[in-house]
Amino acid sequence: MDGAAEALREAADGLDAAALGAELHAQVRALYPLCRSITGEGVRQSLRLLQGLAPIALHEVPSGTAVLDWVVPKEWTLRSARLLGPDGQVVADAARLNLEVLNYSAPFRGMVSLEELEPHLHSLPEAPALVPYRTSYYREEWGFCLPHAVRSALRPGRYGVEIDTTLAEGSLTYGEAVVPGATDEEVLISTHVCHPSLANDNCAGMAMVAVLARIVGALRPRRTHRFLFVPGTIGAITWLARNRERTARVAGGLVAACVGDAGRLTYKRSRRGTADVDRAALHVLRHAGVDHDVRDFTPYGYDERQYCSPGFDLPVGSLTRTPYGEYPEYHTSGDTPALVRPESMVDTLRRYLEVLEVLEGNGTWVNTAPFGEPQLGRRGLYGSVGGKSHARAEQMAMLWVLNLSDGRHSLLDVAERSGLRFTEVRRAARALEGAGLLVAPR
Ligand code: ZN
Repeated sequence: MDGAAEALREAADGLDAAALGAELHAQVRALYPLCRSITGEGVRQSLRLLQGLAPIALHEVPSGTAVLDWVVPKEWTLRSARLLGPDGQVVADAARLNLEVLNYSAPFRGMVSLEELEPHLHSLPEAPALVPYRTSYYREEWGFCLPHAVRSALRPGRYGVEIDTTLAEGSLTYGEAVVPGATDEEVLISTHVCHPSLANDNCAGMAMVAVLARIVGALRPRRTHRFLFVPGTIGAITWLARNRERTARVAGGLVAACVGDAGRLTYKRSRRGTADVDRAALHVLRHAGVDHDVRDFTPYGYDERQYCSPGFDLPVGSLTRTPYGEYPEYHTSGDTPALVRPESMVDTLRRYLEVLEVLEGNGTWVNTAPFGEPQLGRRGLYGSVGGKSHARAEQMAMLWVLNLSDGRHSLLDVAERSGLRFTEVRRAARALEGAGLLVAPR
């Protein structure tokens, strides 16, 4: 019953930080140059790369398909995009950095005056050295993104626009890795795959979730674990539209993004606020002994917006490091692989494993000998490790589990009320079950 939860704990404790950090960072660097968007070859290339880590199935949904209140958009293909100045100098070029073309830009070729060009340029006056990340998903237009310092120096004259792109019927691609469980309850981990050359947001999330899927894939969990790699917003909406029935089985989930910067861990609660996943994440962060932050749900951010829309109201929170929009490099050319730290990615992965351990191992057990304390010594459970302080914690965990396992309290309730780590509580429950003093949840 409890094998996968214990295996998740062992995986979290046994992470080889140096090797895994190097592997995750190498994945980020490999994903970084690919020009992803909400549709198109960049997403497919990225998912194929991640297939080297976990068995991710690619799903293709045709353009024009109605999904909830939306429609799957056209597929975008970028061949090249350059902006040439009056003297022929290269002002912007997607080949050197794909952020320099407006993501999902319509095609355009022609000579324009600076005045005509201006409405098609995007820059950041407050960060003049950085190229912003901008998109034109739901309004067809063409454009370039460039450092404000470059833009301000542009002189009047004729500019050559060469945007060789296609917006045509095709499909939206998303990835899905499923680890089947013994029950039909599900745990959902979702990450967005639509950002082009932005490392922390979200090559880091893609790489981390793929490695998480690989680790969980080696287990035989109680619950089915589903790992989604979806284009932001439209991808999550597409998955929800195609899996409406399944959503009722989601027992808990997390949206992964910005998992690799040096900032502290941040947990954003689900819309429900006190779902098991919210309590599990808080428990993990509290016992991690590291600085962290907890935020209430807001209908903004990543795809928790879709999973927590009122019609679904899934128990899905979001575990990130620095939240969206709160680091200076966010959605700019400053979000490079150098911003992503191997040790941060490993730390975030460890916390994901710990949250999954709690979700997997939680349950409401029943004490079979609730009248007076059962005699633990006779059953070899009292002081079995020899009076060490660890043994004391073990005994306290057993006493708490016995006392609260009246059919109304889960192991997570026991952990919260006792102040003990969930792992100790779960192990105590297993020992008590072995001695016939507890019966497992149905
Ligand atoms: Zn983003």
